[in-house]
Amino acid sequence: MKPFIVTKTIKETPDVTTVYFADKNGAHPSFKSGQYLTVYFDNLESSSGKAYSLSSLPSDESMSISVKAIGAYSNQICSLKPGNQIVVSKPYGSLYEYNSRPLVCIAGGIGISPIWSIIRSVLAINPEQPVKLLYSNRAKSGIVFHEPINNLVNRHQSFGATYYITGQDETTLGKDSVIGRIDIDKIIAELPIDAQFIVCGSTNFVRGIYSQLKASDIPDELISTETFFGI
Ligand SMILES: Cc1cc2nc3c(=O)[nH]c(=O)nc-3n(C[C@H](O)[C@H](O)[C@H](O)COP(=O)(O)OP(=O)(O)OC[C@H]3O[C@@H](n4cnc5c(N)ncnc54)[C@H](O)[C@@H]3O)c2cc1C
Repeated sequence: MKPFIVTKTIKETPDVTTVYFADKNGAHPSFKSGQYLTVYFDNLESSSGKAYSLSSLPSDESMSISVKAIGAYSNQICSLKPGNQIVVSKPYGSLYEYNSRPLVCIAGGIGISPIWSIIRSVLAINPEQPVKLLYSNRAKSGIVFHEPINNLVNRHQSFGATYYITGQDETTLGKDSVIGRIDIDKIIAELPIDAQFIVCGSTNFVRGIYSQLKASDIPDELISTETFFGI
């Protein structure tokens, strides 16, 4: 566990903030996209800290976590300001190992955090690699990294994103959006053959998508999941 200095914060949506941090020399430990670290606050009850996925690219100057404010830990992270200290563990976890298979990333809400890092890493290694993002949120205003995702879609023919809006939404939705839940059975024929699937979100979301992937005969070795409890 080591102290880092917050270099920048960005409010991505009304309740999600990305916090960037680096050590006092402006460096950070190496990590793989898809990994997470533990954040520790000694004024809060959970002395073993809480896990947060890295949303930045390994090559970025600062590392970042993108956090939805729902409770004590997440609110304290979201209220950090540049210059504040944040104590974190080394990065760990193994959600994704780069390979040349087409990639289908399925995110619910803040489950986009590690996926945003993975998608950009894969396209940096091979700009032609087919990558598809299926991203579910209650409302359009909850889509984290909405503009950067759209910019990436515009820059890469091999990358496509579909937004699923599951709640009532008064705002206009684009052609890239679907009202309702992700229905794998409906879209499986449009997804790349032999793709690897990465699923990340709340327990219910990950369970639901995993069951759908199994029902579509996707083998376990092609499915990686990460569950963010309770969000
Ligand atoms: C591997 C991993 C990576 C993660 N990455 C991220 C990330 O990138 N961004 C992010 O915002 N969060 C992430 N999380 C979730 C994060 O670790 C915290 O659990 C979250 O921020 C809530 O902590 P809190 O102290 O703010 O809220 P808490 O006080 O723990 O809880 C707030 C609300 O969530 C409910 N809740 C909490 N835990 C559970 C549970 N186990 N089951 C059901 N309901 C529960 C509580 O009932 C309460 O209503 C990740 C979790 C894991 C395991």
